[in-house]
Amino acid sequence: MDTPPNDDLEASHFDTTISLKNLNWPVVGAILLIHLGACLAPFYFSWEGLICLVLLYCFTGCIGITLCYHRMVTHRGFRLNPVAKWIAHLAGALALQGKPLYWAMSHRVHHARSDQPGDPHSPRDGKWWAHLLWLIPNRGTQSYQVLAAKYIPDLIQDRCCVFFDKTYLFWTILLGAALFGFGGLTCFLWGFCLRVTLVWHMTWLINSATHIWGYRNYPTTDQSRNLWWVAWITFGEGWHNNHHAQPAAAYHGHRWWEIDATGWVISTCRILKLATKLKRPNHHRNKKKGLKGNFSPSHGTSSKGLTSPMGTSVHQSAKIH
Ligand SMILES: [Zn+2]
Ligand SMILES: [Zn+2]
Repeated sequence: MDTPPNDDLEASHFDTTISLKNLNWPVVGAILLIHLGACLAPFYFSWEGLICLVLLYCFTGCIGITLCYHRMVTHRGFRLNPVAKWIAHLAGALALQGKPLYWAMSHRVHHARSDQPGDPHSPRDGKWWAHLLWLIPNRGTQSYQVLAAKYIPDLIQDRCCVFFDKTYLFWTILLGAALFGFGGLTCFLWGFCLRVTLVWHMTWLINSATHIWGYRNYPTTDQSRNLWWVAWITFGEGWHNNHHAQPAAAYHGHRWWEIDATGWVISTCRILKLATKLKRPNHHRNKKKGLKGNFSPSHGTSSKGLTSPMGTSVHQSAKIH
């Protein structure tokens, strides 16, 4: 058991040191093996494999990570009907990006400490650190429990979240076995290895690229950016500066050209009465009042509401300027 210093628990838990002694070897091994499988996939092409990849990319990437883990679980941007909620959590588990509670905790810390000491994955600690390397050190379980009590007290009471937290790996093993059993090696390599690798990198680009490149609609205190090509492959998550300005908003595209595919899915769920209590971006309300913003690029000024550990506050002054 580690004994984290109390002065800065976040910086201690998400320490940026990497050495052979503190590597999380199961994570390192899984990343290497699944990337190896992804490299082999082109040599075992089949149309069935490609269909598995596309369907599972959308299911685990859009429904699992962006809609469920990120916008619903972490930021509570809306609520889902119970059946839809369990299906969305299943999709999240199948993305193989860690247990939902840890995912949500580390992401709330990211919003609380964006590009400051304690941010789990700031490009200020290196582009590759932000993209991937932050995942591989062994983190302390004791410090995790303290951080969980601080950042996700709501989620550790959520039955669905806790269920998938406990059974997380089982679903991935089941899917891998099913793909191999029904579709052979080709479906396993395309539907599992290549698909997991692509969804990993699409998510990781949010942590790396959209804190480096792109334009800013809002003067947030971090380095978040809106990056169109990342938004296109991540179902709308690439409008990351919009998201940092208004973390709880269910919609990340705030201008008409900022295509937000996950937002379309959430709207469809709302029409079908599967999604309720949607939190909308401020500018929707501003438009009704006839207020218009000037979308010129800008660089960080103070914005208190962005540092809410729950990521549920919408900072009233973080308007497009
Ligand atoms: Zn960010
Ligand atoms: Zn977020």
